[in-house]
Amino acid sequence: MTHEPNHRLPANLTFLGAAGTVTGSKFLVESDDHLVLVDCGLFQGRRELRRRNWAGFPVNPAEVEAVVLTHAHLDHCGYLPALYRKGFRGRVLCTEGTRALAEIVLRDSARLQEEDARWAARQGTSKHRPPKPLYATSDVEGLLPLFAPVPFGTQVDVAGPFGVRLEPAGHILGSSVVHLSDGEVSVTFSGDLGRGHHPLLRPPAPIGPTDAIVVESTYGDRAHPERDPGGLADKIRPVLERGGNVLIPAFAIDRTEILLVELGGLIASGALPQVPVLVDSPMALRALTVYRRMLASGADDLRPDAVGAHRLYPPTLEELTTSAESMLATRPRSPSIVVSASGMASGGRVVHHLAAMLPDRRNLVLMVGYQAPGTRGADLVGGAQAVKCFGEYVPVRAEVDQVGWLSVHADADDVLAWLRTASAPPRACYVVHGEPESSAALAARISDELGWLAIAPREDERVLLLPAEAGRPPR
Ligand SMILES: [Zn+2]
Repeated sequence: MTHEPNHRLPANLTFLGAAGTVTGSKFLVESDDHLVLVDCGLFQGRRELRRRNWAGFPVNPAEVEAVVLTHAHLDHCGYLPALYRKGFRGRVLCTEGTRALAEIVLRDSARLQEEDARWAARQGTSKHRPPKPLYATSDVEGLLPLFAPVPFGTQVDVAGPFGVRLEPAGHILGSSVVHLSDGEVSVTFSGDLGRGHHPLLRPPAPIGPTDAIVVESTYGDRAHPERDPGGLADKIRPVLERGGNVLIPAFAIDRTEILLVELGGLIASGALPQVPVLVDSPMALRALTVYRRMLASGADDLRPDAVGAHRLYPPTLEELTTSAESMLATRPRSPSIVVSASGMASGGRVVHHLAAMLPDRRNLVLMVGYQAPGTRGADLVGGAQAVKCFGEYVPVRAEVDQVGWLSVHADADDVLAWLRTASAPPRACYVVHGEPESSAALAARISDELGWLAIAPREDERVLLLPAEAGRPPR
């Protein structure tokens, strides 16, 4: 048997999204002429960002052999149907939890894209005649059979020299840290990291040996308060006692489930009265079904004591499926807690509830997640006197408050603690998925506290991937 000399060029990594911003996660890794994409997310938020979804893809999507997904949030998987529309036919590797949730998220996204295109057609605001959606339900249908679920903790072949291993990230059901290797160099992608105290999920798995790390920095310059269910009850109880309703805008995937577990615990312990808890989000209810199925059957990223925890959901839970039920719930018969999406109140059924509840002083609107600049949620938290709903300004007379500990994202200390689980310093640590100030702050802490080379890359920047120990450049 002859051994050919190794002429392989070093692998390289290109930051196609989530560089200098929190959305659009897409990391292209190339080795030995093979292309693998880690995450394939939509840009969301400001118009300039959303416009980037319409730009050309920098390589021929037909040549991308596989996409590895860290998790099912739209900013990590929402561009996949567009990639399929442009010719991608490779495999999509992810956990079973991610596959089940991504199907829900992508079908909903396609429906919204189609609605936007129809709206643009009526308004004449698109440069396309007739206006086209970014992708359609048919693209999602074509894409779904390409999903290939892989178990946690198992090394699997991806394409060419690439192999991958997924480990729990503790962020949402199925979320993974991705360890990608081409046999010569390994790179670890954090995806979105959870906190240690998620009521259903194990904390993020330790990193171990790796040559490079790509880490998120959503809250890279912030610290979350400690878990405090009693504090949550103290905010909600007086509102119910004065005859008001509590509206909680919540992300459909995972935040709604955490909230239901916490509210269920508070009602069971008597810290909150037995009031109806209305969940008004079709996507959240579909995700709830997936959580219930996985909790009943068990999954490797669940806490052992959480299996069977679906019984923790409040006994007073009411699932609103039809839009007629949704409209009725804007004026509940008795003091109630309404949980509705979207989490930043930028769209979805929650806007109807806001329009109905904001003018009444007895009510409370409780924000529990990240509020991106420019969203209705950020305006409310910022103390706006009125917010626009359906083209009309609505006065903000209701109480508006915020709870920080329900975040499903690691804060800066959590990220640092996770990075310390690497067996040795990586050659470089790339800080992504944050507003520029957050990424810069986290990169500075990583250099100061761990002594690592930490960089917040620019969008579309490409870097070589080299083994951590081979011929390091002088510091
Ligand atoms: Zn996420």
